[in-house]
Amino acid sequence: MDFAPNRSTGLNRLYGFVSHAGRKYAASRNHDNGVKRDNVSQLSPWLHAGLLGEREVLAAVLTKHSPDQAEKFIAEVFWRLYFKGYLEQRPSIWAAYGRQRDEAFAALTGNAGLTKAYAEAIEGRTGIAAFDHWARELVATGYLHNHARMWFASIWIFTLKLDWALGADFFLRHLMDGDAASNTLSWRWVGGLHTVGKTYLARAENIARYTEHHPDGPLTAEGLARHVEPLTEGEQHGRQRLGLPPAPYPSAFAQPFALLLHDEGASHCLLDLPHPPALVIGAARPHARSPQPVGTYASDFAHGAVRSGMEAAGAAFACPTAEWTQETSLASLLENAGLTRIVTPYLPTGWTRDALWPGLERHAPIQLLPETSRQTFPHARAGFFAVKKEIPQILHATRLA
Ligand SMILES: Cc1cc2nc3c(=O)[nH]c(=O)nc-3n(C[C@H](O)[C@H](O)[C@H](O)COP(=O)(O)OP(=O)(O)OC[C@H]3O[C@@H](n4cnc5c(N)ncnc54)[C@H](O)[C@@H]3O)c2cc1C
Repeated sequence: MDFAPNRSTGLNRLYGFVSHAGRKYAASRNHDNGVKRDNVSQLSPWLHAGLLGEREVLAAVLTKHSPDQAEKFIAEVFWRLYFKGYLEQRPSIWAAYGRQRDEAFAALTGNAGLTKAYAEAIEGRTGIAAFDHWARELVATGYLHNHARMWFASIWIFTLKLDWALGADFFLRHLMDGDAASNTLSWRWVGGLHTVGKTYLARAENIARYTEHHPDGPLTAEGLARHVEPLTEGEQHGRQRLGLPPAPYPSAFAQPFALLLHDEGASHCLLDLPHPPALVIGAARPHARSPQPVGTYASDFAHGAVRSGMEAAGAAFACPTAEWTQETSLASLLENAGLTRIVTPYLPTGWTRDALWPGLERHAPIQLLPETSRQTFPHARAGFFAVKKEIPQILHATRLA
């Protein structure tokens, strides 16, 4: 599997996978068949980086399958949109996660037992064979199968009894698709904080069953917790009003502008720009995922995605490109180019926004939000069901059905 961080590799993967996205996907998607897997798309790194968009993935799938045949795959893409919309309406979850993570790291200092248990977990030395396998696979490849992520998080929380925020941080630092919304909310879902009181319990029989075709399988997992109590938290995360940027009028682009591409919006191809930019700026901030070092796969994918996106946009619009690094100032890049206006793909709640917004805010950037997100986010108020129920209407509104 080629994980090159550019749009053409993502598109090749999409077109190679489309024929599998119907009933075959529904029947086989839960199996973790090892790194040579072909039963899931593995499109998540490109989707996260904004090198591919949800709408074009759905459109490609719907050229080969009816909405009914591809129901399961379509629903999974909407899980991604659901989580993003949910976090937009409850950004305090992201802030609370950061605080809990920092406190959990501080608690390791001076606690030799906890430090050892944490090191054994992230280095794959717990003695739980399946868990150790996934810990090493994550670091060695930058990707884990969805079912492996669920089992791993469950074992981390309920068997190893480690803080969920440390586990979420471990994933974010290594997953090429590491996403503030999908990752934080999935860890909370496993622990019983998302659907309050409902946990996900990993079972050895289930792991063996769904890893039967794994080259090292069936994977074993002895000594797993059998009865668990859902996690609890003191803080309530109330829903706030969605403040999505309005779709800009074409006249907003009449004044010369710089196009800013970032970790979650790395391609111009998904943007409907009525005028070409005068400058393309690339800003990659994968290190902002965590105060701890970020893994090579996650870091390289993010840097590569922004670089390839910047070069492609520069070539497409025949305009100069510039990198906005931590050492350079955005204001001077704009000043040198004689520009004041910035246009950028939407910056969702998460570390990319945290890292870029302080430098961006005073330039009042125009943020471009994809129509699939605009249509879906308002329904991501509570459980996924409310989004699922709207899928036919959203496909219709985005001219996909
Ligand atoms: C603890 C945990 C942490 C996770 N962290 C992340 C993360 O940081 N980033 C991330 O993109 N996904 C995350 N997921 C969701 C899911 O595991 C991945 O999106 C999926 O495994 C990606 O592989 P794929 O592209 O082959 O998925 P496919 O099965 O081919 O699905 C197609 C697309 O749908 C979306 N999708 C599929 N399943 C889910 C899901 N359960 N939740 C949200 N979106 C989904 C993804 O964008 C994916 O690329 C996490 C799940 C768990 C249980």
